[in-house]
Amino acid sequence: MISKVLVANRGEIAVRIIRACKELGMTTVAVYSKVDANSLHVRMADQAVCIGEAPANQSYLNISNVISAAINTGCQAVHPGYGFLAENAYFAEMCSTHGIKFIGPSPYTIKLMGDKIAARELVSKTGVPVVPGSEGKISDVKEALRIAEEIQYPVLIKAAAGGGGKGMRLVHNRKELGKTLEVVRTEAQAAFGDGEVYIEKYIEEPRHIEIQVLGDEHGNLVHLGERDCSIQRRNQKLLEESPSPFVDEELRARMGQMALKVAEATGYYSAGTVEFLVDRYKNCYFIEVNTRIQVEHPVTEMVTGVDLVKAQLAIAGGEKLGISQDDVNPRGWAIECRINAEDPGQDFIPSPGTVLNYLPAGGPGVRVDSFIYTGYTVPPYYDSLLGKLIVWAPDRSQAIDRMDRALNEHVIEGIKTTIPFHQRVLDNSFFRRGEVYTNFIARRIDTSGK
Ligand code: ADP
Repeated sequence: MISKVLVANRGEIAVRIIRACKELGMTTVAVYSKVDANSLHVRMADQAVCIGEAPANQSYLNISNVISAAINTGCQAVHPGYGFLAENAYFAEMCSTHGIKFIGPSPYTIKLMGDKIAARELVSKTGVPVVPGSEGKISDVKEALRIAEEIQYPVLIKAAAGGGGKGMRLVHNRKELGKTLEVVRTEAQAAFGDGEVYIEKYIEEPRHIEIQVLGDEHGNLVHLGERDCSIQRRNQKLLEESPSPFVDEELRARMGQMALKVAEATGYYSAGTVEFLVDRYKNCYFIEVNTRIQVEHPVTEMVTGVDLVKAQLAIAGGEKLGISQDDVNPRGWAIECRINAEDPGQDFIPSPGTVLNYLPAGGPGVRVDSFIYTGYTVPPYYDSLLGKLIVWAPDRSQAIDRMDRALNEHVIEGIKTTIPFHQRVLDNSFFRRGEVYTNFIARRIDTSGK
């Protein structure tokens, strides 16, 4: 039985988790850095513990401080949210060493899926297609040249430990290959402490479509359909929807089966996401598994009616799933816009500062997952996500109109946000027709600030 949970995160996801715990009658403990003392998650939790200075490596990433906070406050479980320690297998292991339940899959699964080369190898053995590329890590330029020749340019050099849209570079021809290989290696070593790289064919104009899976510790697994996350800037998602305008019944069933196969092969439990690239011929290629709750989880919740965070808490408490695949019947359409403190008119530079006026959107079918309030100062130390605006409607066209209305209502003054950018995406006729792909913004949206 879990009755007290430490939330090892900040921002909107910490608030989201606290809300789920409260509805389940669980007591919550927030952790915070010195600069976050006035943050909403601190105010909302039953208890709060300061775990260090503002830089994340001195607070939210400090494993011993987080675990000490959990022990000292008598928590039985830790929810890591996303980012920070969420995909750190060592942290998950340390939790269990100290008798604290880590809310997520096993350290083994996290470790396996955190190494993209190992994940590719395992998945290709299950018969699920991976993007054509190297079988394992690349050891020298000669091998890289041979593989690139075989799969044909353009190719991507990717870091085994990459994540968050970082640690990959495009190579157009053999002349660029050697130099780029070294650049990715050096960058990956510096950013992730692991310089191993591999090669993948660059899929032209793909969609990013991912499948949400949910499993318990008794071997039950279901998938909750897809999310289309093709609207990205520099490989980072900005707007997501469920279902995907591109996915029909046949493709949904096929992708669902592939995702379950991958999840099964990794001994998956808790909530997870199997990510695919899908080309225009509906060929699907596995790219990675995210072993945590995702930023974009609300769109799945809106169409399936399943509360993913509550499900994670129940699963961590040893409960059985309680739903089978037949019980999953997505209804209607949901869209999420990530509202970041960034200036879309100036190449999305971060725009920290004080929120002078905040008046969130409301009305039918609108959900706001955020943590800001009038007078809140956005610190410069963490990622720039201020919150998410999520809408539900019976179909895609009504969902777009509703999001347009909600974005217009959503007032955030004092700092620049990505709201104007989202309005331009929604107004775009290609977007309205569902013609989206991962380079949509570069091709279809003018972000020069004019
Ligand atoms: P991360 O872990 O950094 O999120 P992913 O492997 O999930 O990295 O890829 C993020 C995004 O990068 C994808 O959604 C897609 O837009 C792009 N991408 C990744 N691999 C490829 C590929 N082989 N071809 C084309 N685009 C790719």
